[in-house]
Amino acid sequence: MAYIEPAPITDKANPFESMMSRFQVASQHLGLDDEVYNVLKSPAKQVIVSLPITMDDGALIVFEGYRVIHSNILGPSKGGIRYDPEVNLDEIKALAAWMTWKCAVVDIPYGGAKGGIRCNPYQMSPGEVERLTRAYTTAMIDVFGTDRDIPAPDMGTGPREMAWMMDQYSRAHGTTINAVVTGKPLVLGGSLGRVEATGRGVMVSALSAMEKLRINPYNATCAIQGFGNVGSHAGLLLEERGVKVVAISDLSGAYYNENGVNLKDAMEHRDKNKNQMKGYEGAESLNPEDLLTLPVDVIVPAAKEDVITSQNADKIRARLIVEGANGPTSAEADDIIHSKGIMVVPDILANAGGVTVSYFEWVQNRMGYKWTGERVNRRSDRIMKDSFNKVYDTAVSYNVSMRIAAYIVAIDKVAKTYKYRGGF
Ligand code: NAD
Repeated sequence: MAYIEPAPITDKANPFESMMSRFQVASQHLGLDDEVYNVLKSPAKQVIVSLPITMDDGALIVFEGYRVIHSNILGPSKGGIRYDPEVNLDEIKALAAWMTWKCAVVDIPYGGAKGGIRCNPYQMSPGEVERLTRAYTTAMIDVFGTDRDIPAPDMGTGPREMAWMMDQYSRAHGTTINAVVTGKPLVLGGSLGRVEATGRGVMVSALSAMEKLRINPYNATCAIQGFGNVGSHAGLLLEERGVKVVAISDLSGAYYNENGVNLKDAMEHRDKNKNQMKGYEGAESLNPEDLLTLPVDVIVPAAKEDVITSQNADKIRARLIVEGANGPTSAEADDIIHSKGIMVVPDILANAGGVTVSYFEWVQNRMGYKWTGERVNRRSDRIMKDSFNKVYDTAVSYNVSMRIAAYIVAIDKVAKTYKYRGGF
């Protein structure tokens, strides 16, 4: 059963409850009425499917797949597909709701969804992953749709899986429908700029926040946890704008150079080394647990959820936290950080550059037209900057943290739209 190998669900905070606790606080500030609160607290649709797959050795394994549509009030629902042994319905429900708030914060016309399959893709052959992806797409054929629900990559999936999904969906409809999935390879209608988009949005968020905090990027230092897609691109773009990135980390360890890590060099090492920083000699090694508490100006958690908790929040010395990852800060840590006067650019704002460029991919596919990378970057930078300013002004006028302000902006938009559309 190595294909599924479900890790025990640990005592980690329940992600849905953690999302709900912020939702409740923001709703109280907004004075949201009970009816709308009740509509938004529950997902609109939850689909669970069983996927029997014949493995390469002839064994038949039944995998469980999920798709949760939290809301389609603002438009067709949008959200990634996660392949991971720990995938469970609660996690997918929380991630789907986060997508609703994320799309609303950056004002793009999508609702929120998330999907996943409980599996270990790294222990499966490409053929097994392809059969599983095609089976999942077939099981969700009435759920997905260009104007209904549009998947994208998440942990454990990438352009390869998106290509299979697009192909399977298109076969079932007898015509090529590339706008049904985003995050596709460029030749299938993927967008220029998509690979760097989330890191780029993190960079724009960080610079916007530094301007408010009067931190000069040319005198600023930064530590980045997670040197994957988001962390490495955010780091490179911050470095280009003068910020000195003194520490990076990944699952293999943490690396420190007080003069600044040479990030291009670090990326080359990682890419030649099975995507790992292990053995990197351009920096000293550092205890990974110390990275988030280094005396730097900015920290960028860009790895995973629940890394800033009540255990380490008090020790954080940075003035600014920009959340590249989804859910890196626990709800209990929020209060500690806010009381220390540290600014947090929250996940639903800071990492929304990815879904913004996914939206551009969908727009280009529907137009049958390809934008230049320059146009993609210019438009996404503007959206990220405007969204930052809107959340910042809301934080000032409600006297709340940036996180609660981002929820206020998002919930207000969805709630107002719901009121106009109405229920039964
Ligand atoms: P990735 O798999 O490319 O990179 C993750 C990195 O984090 C890897 O370097 C991994 O080794 C490292 N890592 C994992 N656990 C770690 C730990 N305990 N300590 C230090 N490093 C650790 O993933 P990604 O696409 O960069 O996503 C990172 C985060 O950003 C996730 O939370 C994801 O949900 C979020 N996010 C990604 C996108 C996107 O477009 N890729 C968009 C929005 C949000």
